[in-house]
Amino acid sequence: MSVDPIIETVAVSKSFGGFKALSNVSVKVQPGMLTSIIGPNGAGKSTFFNLMSGAFAPSEGKVLFQGRDITGLRAHDFAHAGIAKSFQITNLFPNFTTLENVRIALQAHVSRYGLWKRRGDLPGLSERGMQLLEIVGLGTRAKHLARELAHGQQRALEIAVALAADPRLLLMDEPTAGMSPEETRIMMDLIRRLVGERTVVLVEHKMKMVMGISERIVVLHHGELIAQGSPDDIRGNDLVKRVYLGQ
Ligand code: ADP
Ligand code: MG
Repeated sequence: MSVDPIIETVAVSKSFGGFKALSNVSVKVQPGMLTSIIGPNGAGKSTFFNLMSGAFAPSEGKVLFQGRDITGLRAHDFAHAGIAKSFQITNLFPNFTTLENVRIALQAHVSRYGLWKRRGDLPGLSERGMQLLEIVGLGTRAKHLARELAHGQQRALEIAVALAADPRLLLMDEPTAGMSPEETRIMMDLIRRLVGERTVVLVEHKMKMVMGISERIVVLHHGELIAQGSPDDIRGNDLVKRVYLGQ
């Protein structure tokens, strides 16, 4: 029995001037799973990420979220629908504490959508902020300034900020870029913990890294979908092997 996808792209294409960065890509993302979009540099991964997050609209095709056509809506509407993206360094306030950063994100979410009033049973801002910091492993760093955190911890804080909006779908573009092996391992553990309650889509060019944690893998190459399936399907796919060996 197939489950309804949480997000689905239907034959999306994206052109920049005369250049087609993405061509006719149809992908269904299953809810509660970790799906990774992989492909060599320039494959169109970030372009695809931006279409899913509403940063820009496709030149052709559609984006459906929980069955609803959200093509062409603004990024704000994508966020409101329950889609969050992580890894915008600019989301952090370096001279505010770790907890203050999450509180600000919670406050923005609460006032924008009036959720605070509707859900009388929600914990206070600081309490919920601490819960989110615990989830991302920053419980002991609440009082540190954001700029004092190590690189990997700043990235974890960005995830806590994204989680403040209580998203159904969390999108991450190369979450371990620039990380040490140890930081990478910690980030991978964190991502694994987030999946289930939420759907996570990871965009990544390091094939090895996603093999162990992903439930579904989508492979892009030169803007085209060349394979999708389980890690085992992808590992055994001749076209994928050729693309990655040829790097
Ligand atoms: P990836 O994330 O897989 O490395 P991108 O989606 O960033 O790939 O880019 C795919 C292709 O589209 C690349 O050739 C890139 O140069 C081009 N591209 C991406 N964004 C733009 C843009 N805003 N204007 C022009 N070309 C772009
Ligand atoms: Mg990219």
